Amino acid sequence: MTVWLAVVCPDCGLDDIIKHGKSPEGKQRYLCRNSDCLRRTFVLDTQQPGRKREVKQKIVDMAVNGSGVRDTARVLHVSPATVIRELKKSRRNSNK
Ligand SMILES: [Zn+2]
Repeated sequence: MTVWLAVVCPDCGLDDIIKHGKSPEGKQRYLCRNSDCLRRTFVLDTQQPGRKREVKQKIVDMAVNGSGVRDTARVLHVSPATVIRELKKSRRNSNK
């Protein structure tokens, strides 16, 4: 008997999903069985925080509040390089 999961493909939205081993980080990987789907394999937690607008805003907010690059990176789970890049961008925008 199969224990069915409420998992849908993040690309095509279908729930024709089977387990497909583990990602390098040890997360459950899934395989989409929709033959028209472009993605095919995925992990459920596919967040890439450094690319999210809210995280960028938080990087700027924390810098305004006096947080260092390393603290900000640790709290937001991004790399210090991401923090530095976002801060440079935001300074450029505010120095018009
Ligand atoms: Zn799919």
